[in-house]
Formats: sequence, structure tokens, C-alpha cells
Amino acid sequence: MDELKPVIRPLLTFTGSIGSFEKEIKDTHDFNLGLKTLLDNRIQILQVSSLVAIATLGFMARSQYHDYAEIIAFVSIIWITANVLFINYDFYMKHHLGEKEQGYLNIPQEIIKEKVRVWILKILLVRILLIIFIYRLLLLFPDIWWILSPVLSFLFFAIFNKQLFRHDLIFPKIEKFPDGELKDKLYKFCTGKVDKSNIFLWKFSQYTKRVNAGVFKIKRKRSILLGDNLFENFDDDEINAMLAHELAHLELRHIEKKILLIIFSLTFIVGIVNLLLNWYIDYFGIPKKASMISLVFIYTVYFILSRFHVAISLLYSRYAEKKADEWALRYFPKRNSFESMLVRLHLTNGIYHKNSLREKLQFLTHPPVEDRIKHLRMYAEKIGIVK
Ligand SMILES: [Zn+2]
Repeated sequence: MDELKPVIRPLLTFTGSIGSFEKEIKDTHDFNLGLKTLLDNRIQILQVSSLVAIATLGFMARSQYHDYAEIIAFVSIIWITANVLFINYDFYMKHHLGEKEQGYLNIPQEIIKEKVRVWILKILLVRILLIIFIYRLLLLFPDIWWILSPVLSFLFFAIFNKQLFRHDLIFPKIEKFPDGELKDKLYKFCTGKVDKSNIFLWKFSQYTKRVNAGVFKIKRKRSILLGDNLFENFDDDEINAMLAHELAHLELRHIEKKILLIIFSLTFIVGIVNLLLNWYIDYFGIPKKASMISLVFIYTVYFILSRFHVAISLLYSRYAEKKADEWALRYFPKRNSFESMLVRLHLTNGIYHKNSLREKLQFLTHPPVEDRIKHLRMYAEKIGIVK
């Protein structure tokens, strides 16, 4: 591979990947954001080539090619593009990641391989099920499939969420928080808000040095999830500050609100996909709405429009984070502990300053730490908390 470097490098630079990755790392000092940007560049190229593919398919359908020819044409276009793009990714995995590690990733190769395997399997399974599901809807309810698909998908997740959690699909390495003094202390802080049996430990110190905590609901039961790294790096008051922030998400019903927002915005976007599909079918004279070509169209156009959906849900996420900080400060009125918790989080996770518009629209679930501290100070002053 090394001898290929002089050939490959200019090619990669040409497609913009190396430049943007290195620039991201330099600007943000954030390894993860750099990697996300790298993949996002690839996705953008994939989206453009998919659009070219569906236009080609349309013209092929117009000149009455056989169904299979259309599918083969589409698959080959995507396949070639994806291969060109992923030469890049492999190259990075092999030659670049090692050098660019900044101390917050120490994942052994086997774990990466296992993760990629599960991830591919998951994507394939979900995609295949989704394709069959949408095809049946198109066949049975051609006019309202776009309302039914988001609503039914969410019903599916609501019914099967317990199984999904149990099978490690959503959060790997979760276990009940071990009984003892530490658990008693944590429970005392959130008595009345969460059941003692619903405090979980998220064991990921073997994968990363990052710190994380979260909330989720299983069978309508509020649960709190605390990363094990938290207990190595943070003092008691900082842990309480983080716990208060997580409780706030539960008290303010952020999970429920986010699910509603997602259903609403997905229905809206799939509605637009449906309008465009009707136009596409008319324009190219596609004989049936429930057909392979419609599925390809739906998938491609949805893939592109989902960027708007991501942007909307991230905007809500960042708003909810600020509201959670406010609630948490009222519950645990120690402004200094919140600030030191946020700064420590910033140092441990190596997070961003000065984010670009693209990062705000596509990646950032939380406001930058500086913004959160500024907001916290303003709010503390408003409700009269001095320190
Ligand atoms: Zn939060």
C-alpha cells in the first residue's frame, strides 16, 4: 500500500477528503468531528451520483428497457461510486487513523472489525425489511403510504424497544449499576425521579476515554445511564451536576417531545418525497407506483432530504440541552460545579469551539461548551444564584 501513496494521495486530495479532514482536526482539535466530516463528504458525492442514477433510470424507463436492466444500471452506478469513495476510507483506516489518534481513542483492531460487521449486518437487515415494508405500503395504500410509513415504523420501535435494548443493538455494554455505597449516593440524589433498579452503568472505558451519560425509557420506565469513565475523572459535585442535567431531560419530557418532532418531520419529508415521486412517475411515464424504480426513487430522494430532518432535530436537541441545564441548576443550585463539570467534559471529550455552519446543521447534538457556560451564567444571575 505504501508504494501507492504517491498515486492515491493526490487523488484523495482531489476529492477533498484529506484536505478537509486535516483542516477539521486543525480547526476544531476534534478527532470525531474530523472523521464525521470525512464520511459526510463521501455521502454528499454518493447523493449526487444517486440523483444522476435515478435520472438515468427515468430515461431508461421512458425508452422501455426491461425492469431488470434498470435495477442493474442503478446498482452498478452506486456500486462503482461507493467503491471509489471507500478506497479513501480504507486508506484512512490503515494509514492515517493511527497517527491522528489524540488520546481519546484506543480501540483494538478486533473490536473495530466486530463493530463494522454488526453495523453492516444491521444496515442490510433494516434496509431489506424497510424496502419490503415500503413496497407493501405502496401496493396497498398508494395515496397515503407516506403518512403510514413513519407512524408504523415508530409503532414498531415502541413495541419492540425492549428487545432492541436487550440485544445490544442500541447501547452496547450496559449493565445494572452495581449495588453499594456509590449507587446509594446516586439514588439519594434522584429519589422520587427514577427507580433504584433503573440506574445503569455504561461500560465503555475499554473503548474510549470519553465521558458520557444519558437517559432513556424502557417500557415507560425512566432510566439513567452513566458512563464508567465519569467516576474516574469527576468529583462528587460534578457528578451530581451531570446527574441533575440527565434528570432534567426526564422531567422536561425531552424524549417524548423529540419522538413527536421526529414523527412530524419525517412525515413531512416523506410527504414531499411522495409529491416528487408522483411528478417523476408522470414525467417519465412509469406504469406502476409500486415498482422497483419507485423504491429506488424514494430511497434516493429521502436520503437527500433527510439532511433537513437531521438539521431540524439537532436544532431541537441543542435547545433542549439549554433548557435541561436551566432545570438542573434549579435542582442543584451550584453554578461552579456545573461550570467545572462542563470544562472537564470539554477537556476529556476534546470538544469543539467555533463550529462551522455544516457542523451545526449535520453533527452537533449539544451547544459548544462555551455557549453552555455563558447561558448558565446568564440564567444563574436571573434566578439569583451567586456561585
Ligand atoms: Zn443533555
